[in-house]
Amino acid sequence: MKVRCTYCGAEFEVPNTVRTTTCPYCGLTLTIKSPEEVQPAEVDHYYFPVAPKDPFLSLMEFVSREYGAPEDIEAASTLEKRELHYIPVYFFHVRGCMRVANFEGNSAHATEVLFYPIVALRKGRLVEVLRGYPFAVRGRRFFDVSVKKKGVYHEPEFDRAYAQRIVEAALMSALRDEARACVPDYTIEESVKSVEFRGLVHYPIWRLVYRYRWRRYEAFVDGADGRIILAEYPQTLTARAACFGLAFLLLATGLPLSIAIGLLIKAPLATITGAIASVAGAVPPLKRALHVKARGSEVMELEKGQPKPFEALTKYIRVRKL
Ligand SMILES: [Zn+2]
Repeated sequence: MKVRCTYCGAEFEVPNTVRTTTCPYCGLTLTIKSPEEVQPAEVDHYYFPVAPKDPFLSLMEFVSREYGAPEDIEAASTLEKRELHYIPVYFFHVRGCMRVANFEGNSAHATEVLFYPIVALRKGRLVEVLRGYPFAVRGRRFFDVSVKKKGVYHEPEFDRAYAQRIVEAALMSALRDEARACVPDYTIEESVKSVEFRGLVHYPIWRLVYRYRWRRYEAFVDGADGRIILAEYPQTLTARAACFGLAFLLLATGLPLSIAIGLLIKAPLATITGAIASVAGAVPPLKRALHVKARGSEVMELEKGQPKPFEALTKYIRVRKL
């Protein structure tokens, strides 16, 4: 049968036997009595069931494909610790729109629609690892108390209203930044925001510790879909030497080249920017060369360092010049 979402108005197909469903467009959970009688469900606590695949197996498949990992990594690694954490996450559906203009008559229009998760923990390793993590949105189920016994259960450390204020502030500043980049010296002509709560979800995250030869390595795996969030792994001497060589090459060619170009076009600034670029390019491989452990992720870009809290939000924003 076809049902219509009471919040966003989208129409979508569900099997005739289904009595509760989640709108694929805005994430609202609906109770269906008949196609004509659809209501927002009153439950707002969910959990994600744990995927059946062994997280250590997913981890080994991932690290064995990573650049520089030893060939015997799967055969020679042993699992030492396996913890399942149920992490509290508030989900919001965010819609924002801002129109700005300046004296010269330039105007811009920034809009934003996305799911925004807030991990309801204040500090700790898990908060660091999950910063900016794109949690799965589909597949959640109504909360069941038996979940509390399945792993390390974390209660939310702040309430939903506090989380909502974080999201609203992030949305406004992201819109403002984006508008400012487009139209300098602007005034806000119009701004609309809607931040809708989409439930508290207890989300499964595996923390694994494994041993390869005489060292221990830590990894975090998404319990709901098996994605590798963060994995430490050993890298071979050859790989480290190759990284060192690459860093050296970037410096050895980049620096003289920038000087030559600077002299050629008589622009000292070209030399400086060129030098900065080659040093910046050489830093990531040099860092890798100096560490025994490498880090990889299936989802996030680690080279840039930890993302800032609202970077994830900003990067979705599209600005349209009017
Ligand atoms: Zn909807």
